[in-house]
Amino acid sequence: MPTLTGSCFCRNIQYKLSLDSIDDVRASLCHCHNCKKAFGTNYGLTAKVPKDSLHITKGSPKQHVSDNGSGALIHREFCDNCGSFILEYGVSVALMRT
Ligand SMILES: [Zn+2]
Ligand SMILES: [Zn+2]
Repeated sequence: MPTLTGSCFCRNIQYKLSLDSIDDVRASLCHCHNCKKAFGTNYGLTAKVPKDSLHITKGSPKQHVSDNGSGALIHREFCDNCGSFILEYGVSVALMRT
C-alpha cells in the first residue's frame, strides 16, 4: 500500500495519503469557471484521490466555498499562511467531511 506525504509551501499544513494502489489517483484538468478563477488560468489541475485516503497530519486548512458557474458548490481548502491549495471537492464529499 503506497503512502505519500506532502505539504503546503510553508509546511504549516502537512498531509498523508494512504492508497490501496497508485492507480487510484487520477490527474484531472477542469475548465469550469471556478477552477479558472482559482488557478488564474484557463483550467484547474488536480489529482483525484479516494476521499478516505487523505489525512491532514499538521495544521488546519482554511476553507472557501463558491459556485462553479453551473449552480454546484465547490469547496476549496488552502493554507491561510502561504496560499497553497490543499483540497478541492463538491457537496457530496463536503457532507461526509463534517
Ligand atoms: Zn502554507
Ligand atoms: Zn472546476
